Amino acid sequence: MSFVIPAWDIPSLPVAGSEDRFPVRRIYCIGRNYAEHAREMGMDERDPPFFFMKPADAIVQNGETIPYPPQTSNYHYEGELVVAIGKTATDVSVEDANDCIYGYGVGLDMTRRDVQIAAREVGRPWDMGKGFDNSAPCSEIHTVAEIGHPAEGRIHLTVNGETRQDGDIKDMIWNVPESISYLSGLVTLEPGDLIMTGTPAGVGPVVSGETMVVSVDGVTELTCTIA
Ligand code: MN
Repeated sequence: MSFVIPAWDIPSLPVAGSEDRFPVRRIYCIGRNYAEHAREMGMDERDPPFFFMKPADAIVQNGETIPYPPQTSNYHYEGELVVAIGKTATDVSVEDANDCIYGYGVGLDMTRRDVQIAAREVGRPWDMGKGFDNSAPCSEIHTVAEIGHPAEGRIHLTVNGETRQDGDIKDMIWNVPESISYLSGLVTLEPGDLIMTGTPAGVGPVVSGETMVVSVDGVTELTCTIA
């Protein structure tokens, strides 16, 4: 079998301590998963979790420089813990949810905030505010065997060395097992799926020439520069 147009490479991320790579299948994102961020977006922090997606080829490798995207004048960073799924999971319980996790990384849910909010206000999908080219910078994946299941730890983001976000992943409204349980009741999670688990307070704009560094204690650090 051959394809009628050239097939593309599967997007992938390095795996710490391995020569092999983690193939990226789908990227699920959790909205407003820290109470202070929900409040800064003008929303009720007790809503059930909700999800949106980015295309797999929105992945950007650690250390890369990305272009300032078109059609925005309010381009925001959101530093997030990323979960890498290694096993199929359908309607999994909270107690069993960790079993489907391959590892963890640190990511950026880059957002055209003006486009997202314009869509939100008229009840339209968020895709063009969230799922555009280069909108998912992500670090290498660290396996559960290496780091376990981080349930607490500082999540910290700087722009040109200045702190903009400083939270703790223990302050997620829906923690990782709860989020996986809920999401796996909506769709079957498959190996290669990533989950961006939401961002703490302090989101804001970046402009050309600025460098973001986001870290989660016990996981790793991600650097990304805007051209
Ligand atoms: Mn986000």
